[in-house]
Amino acid sequence: MARYTGAVCRLCRREGQKLFLKGDRCYTDKCALEHRSYAPGMHGNARNKKLSEYGVQLREKQKARRYYGVSEKQFSHYFELAEKRQGQAGENLLAILESRMDNVAYRLGFAMSRAEARQLVRHGHFTVNGKKVDIPSYQVKTGDVIELKETSRSMDKFKGSLEANASRVVPKWLEFDQANKVAKVVAVPAREDIDLPIEEHLIVELYSK
Ligand code: SF4
Repeated sequence: MARYTGAVCRLCRREGQKLFLKGDRCYTDKCALEHRSYAPGMHGNARNKKLSEYGVQLREKQKARRYYGVSEKQFSHYFELAEKRQGQAGENLLAILESRMDNVAYRLGFAMSRAEARQLVRHGHFTVNGKKVDIPSYQVKTGDVIELKETSRSMDKFKGSLEANASRVVPKWLEFDQANKVAKVVAVPAREDIDLPIEEHLIVELYSK
């Protein structure tokens, strides 16, 4: 399935919770959920609609997919990889999603949203172990050193984002030297380091059908 290009606030309304897809706006009363908390579409306002077990699992998968902005195909590929790894498939899946290069740029505070981070990665602002990486889905691994390119450091965009995101907590699996705009991956992302309200067991159940 192609990437969704419609109004992203509809996605939050569909999931009934903030997915923080629009950066600054999500933290203000301009957020669509502050005014229209029901699902989009003609029947979106129907209350007490009980979802089937499958529906609940599907919504959880869609929510996770939308948080990270990955396609259906990519998501199911990640699940296959997660199942092959040692440990719990659900936790492995989240670790794989967290290890995407665009998510790392977002977690470090270089971007206001994951969508913006994806664009910044595509534009070649970052290096991993000294080499340019412009693939948002690139998987970082323990020991990797992620850097904002020398020529990008003085850009107002990055200064502004780092200031605006100063209160964002950098997860424990990343060590960030903000002054030098360099980060190191010091561990595999653990479940407790991922602050998203995702019930990954529901996704596992969905794919196990
Ligand atoms: Fe979601 Fe942000 Fe839009 Fe609010 S403003 S509905 S959190 S994308």
